Amino acid sequence: MLVTGSIDEIRRTVRLWKRERLTVGLVPTMGALHEGHLHLIRRMREETDRVVVSVFVNPTQFGPNEDYNHYPRMLDEDLKLCRKQRVAAVFHPDRSDIYPSDPLFSIGIQRLNEHLCGATRPGFFEGVSLIVNKLFNIVEPDVAIFGQKDYQQFRVVSRMVEEFNHPVRLLMSDIVRAKDGLALSSRNSYLSNQERLAAPSLYRSLRYISGQIEQGVNEPGLLIQHQVRELEEKGFEIDYLGIYSVDDLSPLEHLESGRNVLLAAAVYLGKTRLIDNLLLSSKH
Ligand code: AMP
Repeated sequence: MLVTGSIDEIRRTVRLWKRERLTVGLVPTMGALHEGHLHLIRRMREETDRVVVSVFVNPTQFGPNEDYNHYPRMLDEDLKLCRKQRVAAVFHPDRSDIYPSDPLFSIGIQRLNEHLCGATRPGFFEGVSLIVNKLFNIVEPDVAIFGQKDYQQFRVVSRMVEEFNHPVRLLMSDIVRAKDGLALSSRNSYLSNQERLAAPSLYRSLRYISGQIEQGVNEPGLLIQHQVRELEEKGFEIDYLGIYSVDDLSPLEHLESGRNVLLAAAVYLGKTRLIDNLLLSSKH
C-alpha cells in the first residue's frame, strides 16, 4: 500500500495505474476510520481495480467554534485498517500542501445549502466542495463514493460534478449503524457513556416518523413536533428534524403519494453534533 502526503506522488501513481488500464476509485475521509468508512472502501473495491483513500481533516469545512482542533486524528490505526482492506494507496496531505496561505479563489453555492446542515453551518458546504474539487483534480479518480449519512453533501458534490464537468462517477453508500441503531461517526467518540446510551433515540424517532408516513400520514408536522419534544426531554438539542425534497433539499410540509423524500435530523447531545437520515417513500 502506498502511503503518501505528496500531491505529485499520488498523481503519478494513479496515472501509471490508468496507463495499465486499471480503474481507480477514491474514498474521501477525514480519518478516524470506522466500519462506515470500511463499508465504502469494500464497496469501492467491488467497483474499481485500485482504491485510494484520502485522509485529511479539512480546515475549510469547520466553523470558528467547531471541533477542528479536537477532531480525532489516528493515522497509524487508519493505515492498519486500510491495509486490511487491501487499499492500494492512502493519500494524507498536509494542510499547507492543500491550501496556499492566501487563496484568491473560492467556491460559492446557491440554494442547495440553504436548509439542513447548510443553514446552521455557514461555509461548511463551500469548504466541502473546495476540498472535494481539489481531491478530484489531484487524484483524478474514475469513481468516488460518499455516504448517505451526509446526504446533503452527496447532493452538493453531485451537482458540483455536473456543473464543473468532473469526469468522475459518483456512488452513494447506505448508512452503517451500531447494533442499537446509532449511525457510526468519528464524532461518536466524543459521547460520554450516558450520552452514548441516549444517542440511539434519534434513530428510533426517525424510524417512528417514517413508519407513520409509510402508513399514510401525509401532513407529518405535528408528528415531528411531538418527536422533537420527546428528544428534547431526553436531553437532545435539536438543530433540525424534518422532511426535505431529495432533489433540491427544500423542506416539505405536505407529502405527495409515491414521492421519495428525505427525513433528516441534526442534533446535539452535550457538545456532540449527530446527524442521521432515512430516505423514504410515502404511500397513501
Ligand atoms: P468523514 O470521515 O466523516 O468525512 O466521512 C467520510 C465518508 O464516509 C463520507 O462520505 C461519509 O458520508 C461516509 N460515512 C461516514 N459515516 C458513515 C456511516 N455510518 N455509514 C456510511 N458511510 C459513512
